Amino acid sequence: MLPSTTKYLIVGSGIHGLSTAYHLSLELKNRGLGSGKDIIVIDKSGIGAGASGIACGVVRNNYFQPAMRELMAHSVEVWESDPKNYSYHPVGYMQISPEVMRSDVSSIYEQQKAIGYPSEFIEGSEDSMSYMRGIFDDWHAKGITSVLHEKKGGYSNNRKCLEGLAAKAESEGVLIIGNVEVLGVEYSGKSISKVITNIGEIKIDYLVVGVGPWINNFWKILNLPRKIRIKDGEKYFEDVEMWRYYCLQEGTLGVDPNMLKTNEGKMPPVVHVDSDVPLYSDTNGNLITDKMWGIYYKPDFSFDGIQGGSAPYNVDNTGEDFSVDPYGTESPDFVVGKKFVDMWCSALAFCQKRFEGSRNLYREKPSGGLGALAPDSFPVFDVFHENCYVIADSNHGWKMIGVGKLVSKEIMGESSTLLDPFRFNRFEKGNLHPVSNSPFPWS
Ligand SMILES: Cc1cc2nc3c(=O)[nH]c(=O)nc-3n(C[C@H](O)[C@H](O)[C@H](O)COP(=O)(O)OP(=O)(O)OC[C@H]3O[C@@H](n4cnc5c(N)ncnc54)[C@H](O)[C@@H]3O)c2cc1C
Repeated sequence: MLPSTTKYLIVGSGIHGLSTAYHLSLELKNRGLGSGKDIIVIDKSGIGAGASGIACGVVRNNYFQPAMRELMAHSVEVWESDPKNYSYHPVGYMQISPEVMRSDVSSIYEQQKAIGYPSEFIEGSEDSMSYMRGIFDDWHAKGITSVLHEKKGGYSNNRKCLEGLAAKAESEGVLIIGNVEVLGVEYSGKSISKVITNIGEIKIDYLVVGVGPWINNFWKILNLPRKIRIKDGEKYFEDVEMWRYYCLQEGTLGVDPNMLKTNEGKMPPVVHVDSDVPLYSDTNGNLITDKMWGIYYKPDFSFDGIQGGSAPYNVDNTGEDFSVDPYGTESPDFVVGKKFVDMWCSALAFCQKRFEGSRNLYREKPSGGLGALAPDSFPVFDVFHENCYVIADSNHGWKMIGVGKLVSKEIMGESSTLLDPFRFNRFEKGNLHPVSNSPFPWS
């Protein structure tokens, strides 16, 4: 049953909806303005039905964009505040790169130092090789000339974390209801006064939208522009699609996760490798790609194997279909295909000898998923129609657990300098985030 009224309605029970619900309940309590009982979270399916429920869960600071790094540093503090309930594994993270990325990554390292985020930067091919062999004695990736080793970050188990976050919110009095789909909103003056769902209407004072890759649909519900104008330097681009879809390719090698322990017998940092060395098939020796490629991987007991992924690709799926349902309609084949499996397994073997000949151990089951990205591939955190906070993370936001905390403060009237660079008007003002040489659209 849907109550007829609530002060705060949050749509989406993924990482952002639940984090906002929990932190908002604390804000209300600490300020003497109410409690979690003033908050309802609704979801058209249930907890973790979207991207959050399938995310590989990597938490890193490694971003070329200063605003992203500062935001991630804040989120890492939130992860560290309750590792048990957030199922957070602080094993660290390594960005391992070719020469073409060295100066970008070097500037990331310098700026990490400036904000006090602990990391180590190794330069030169010999030093990079010996650093990596100090961790994994079978490391043999060619063409690597730098390693950025972040000592914080790591990964978190998606489902366990969402359950932990939901339990924390519920213990503060928040009501979480599944199988309620928002179909529309009604206005009173300029602000939203009512939300229309498949099971009835609910009057609200404030609406928070955290609908992950369904943002395109919700954008339409909120009557926001499908196409926008973008200023980039001195140039203007007209009629740019606000949301486009990328396929995130991930999978699992069905082996004992312990096989990736370090030389010292410890669980290793998350490994991310980008390379411009041509990649050949580990199975038949055929060329897979001679363009820049990138992979990441980690041992993960939740996925029961070595889990990871490669760079996403643009599925160019906006077209006329404005209401694509990212998880409801696509077949698993669409999401991750044989090409990815061959590439990822061959890249693992390119990096470490222990993966040679292991393509047949790849676990053939649906994995990966779609993400909706803004024109510059970075998040939009902003208020629309006076009382509607939209959290649209451009689908690299599992790590951004702290955004809900900052959003809660903004809802209370405390503006956040960390969220400022992610306002919607940055596109028309030309305040875009810098672009790196990484093969990933969001690094
Ligand atoms: C395969 C994959 C791997 C990823 N790996 C990582 C990673 O390692 N690290 C990282 O930082 N990020 C990662 N991401 C990105 C990350 O998962 C997402 O950015 C993040 O989980 C989005 O969270 P969310 O709460 O905004 O949305 P979601 O988790 O997608 O939740 C949105 C919820 O909204 C509900 N909903 C949608 N429309 C409606 C409606 N009209 N009415 C009611 N409910 C609605 C949905 O049912 C869903 O449960 C990955 C994404 C994918 C797909």
